[in-house]
Amino acid sequence: MSQPPVLISEADIQKRVAELAEEISRDYQDKDDVVLIGVLKGSFIFLADLSRRLTIPRTIEFIAVSSYGNGSVQSGAVRLVMDVRGNIEGRHVLIVEDIVDTGHTLSYLIGMLRSHGPASIRTCTLLHKAERAEVDVKIDYVGFGIGDEWVVGYGLDYAEQNRTLPYIGNVEPTDR
Ligand code: 5GP
Repeated sequence: MSQPPVLISEADIQKRVAELAEEISRDYQDKDDVVLIGVLKGSFIFLADLSRRLTIPRTIEFIAVSSYGNGSVQSGAVRLVMDVRGNIEGRHVLIVEDIVDTGHTLSYLIGMLRSHGPASIRTCTLLHKAERAEVDVKIDYVGFGIGDEWVVGYGLDYAEQNRTLPYIGNVEPTDR
């Protein structure tokens, strides 16, 4: 099977992840605890690389939501599939997303996690499709802005394929 064309190379991703880690480490340097919450499944590789480059004390949690079917067509409301296991009350939370598209998922997550009473919530996404935004949601750290296209690789899939590509590529979904 042919590989998707490269949109963002492995080298460019690694360089940007290092820059984000530096910025986050600087912003949280006076905090003694930051909980990174990775949004499954798409953020698992980004979270692994980002978290290992941070120079501040951090712990890792995961949360799982579903907002799409098995392809690229939005199925409607965001649904919580797995909540965080650890207690985040009074702690500094950084949500780590793979991609923000319409913003519904991130907006839902912020509201949901806020109800757990954290000291603060910030958001970080590797990719942002600004032109597709439907809700106004604050993103504190953005890796790359991209256009309205379906991307795969570095954790992101199309129908569960291509998650482990080392780069971000684009595919032509057959269901859009
Ligand atoms: P939103 O709620 O912002 O519309 O969508 C966020 C979720 O949609 C992401 O976490 C991701 O699962 C999925 N998504 C949106 N655009 C893309 C894309 O181009 N590629 C992949 N693989 N997932 C996407």
